[in-house]
Amino acid sequence: MAKAKEKAKKTGKKSGLATDLELRIGFGWDSHAFKAGIPLLIGSVKLPYDKGLGGHSDGDVLLHAITDALLGAIAGPDIGTLFPPSDPQWKGADSVVFLKEALKRVTAAGYAVENLDSTLILNAPKIGPHAATIRARVAGLLAISGNCVGLKAKTPEGLNNDNAAVAHVVVLLRKRSAKPRSR
Ligand code: MG
Repeated sequence: MAKAKEKAKKTGKKSGLATDLELRIGFGWDSHAFKAGIPLLIGSVKLPYDKGLGGHSDGDVLLHAITDALLGAIAGPDIGTLFPPSDPQWKGADSVVFLKEALKRVTAAGYAVENLDSTLILNAPKIGPHAATIRARVAGLLAISGNCVGLKAKTPEGLNNDNAAVAHVVVLLRKRSAKPRSR
């Protein structure tokens, strides 16, 4: 057993996750259709709008993409596998629960979130006036500083999907035992 461990250390080969990596990148993507008469939650911030994003949970497209980016970075199961829409317990669920589970798995794998960047694609409402609030909320949830959360918003020019919101997210993790680079 000890020999196998020593060999694994030398070759960097371990069963499951290659935890010898200092950095790991993750990518997440999600989309939801707008629906009248429900609250609009983006990055766990309620935005004033007459439509919200439909879905089995609270439809928070940004938190779903972040959750999948975190899970992808540690080569984990995706959000749909962990929280299947077919399971009634996730009906109307607060997406913060999904994000926290992903973060717990990241921590258990020995990693911490370094920074995150995101792009939202939606026709309305305008994200600009709320971007600082969303960035601060996401940063708080991930326990990183606000300047480590990027958020851009674009309109779906030529995509013909004015009734949907799309989120793209990349996240960078650093092994917790690795010394952070001086900034
Ligand atoms: Mg989703």
